[in-house]
Amino acid sequence: MAAEIFETNSPDETFNLGKKLGQEAIPGTIIAMTGDLGVGKTLFTQGFAKGLGIDEPITSPTFTIMQIYESGRIPFYHFDVYRIADPEEMDEIGFENFVCGDGASIIEWAELIEEIIPPEAIKITIEKDLEKGFDYRKITVVK
Ligand code: ADP
Ligand code: MG
Repeated sequence: MAAEIFETNSPDETFNLGKKLGQEAIPGTIIAMTGDLGVGKTLFTQGFAKGLGIDEPITSPTFTIMQIYESGRIPFYHFDVYRIADPEEMDEIGFENFVCGDGASIIEWAELIEEIIPPEAIKITIEKDLEKGFDYRKITVVK
């Protein structure tokens, strides 16, 4: 397990980091994202989708839990589990079949369903540090 730390100072930089990981993603890539509201999880995800070759708009599926995009080079499953009360709810939408399938997945608020995140998932944490500026983000990637 190696931790890599990236520091960004603009939304674009975070988008581009996501894009880079999206370009590198292969079937079965899972990214478990942690970070407070408004820290940049969805922005990173938008970059990731771009890196997969998806040009449609990506919005946070807070109310639908999952959104599937099939217009990229591999399927993309975007989860936002903020409203999940119990990880068992994820069974109902077939979480396991998607994340262990033919596409790449990103899970926003992954810490809420920690017990069902596959161990091979890449863990990404995004944090603010207001002392370093309003647009500063520390992005820790653990592979
Ligand atoms: P989340 O999905 O974590 O709730 P969003 O991606 O929806 O967060 O929103 C992040 C917000 O923070 C956006 O309004 C974006 O413009 C802003 N922002 C400012 N600086 C950065 C940065 N360095 N990286 C990512 N987002 C940033
Ligand atoms: Mg979000």
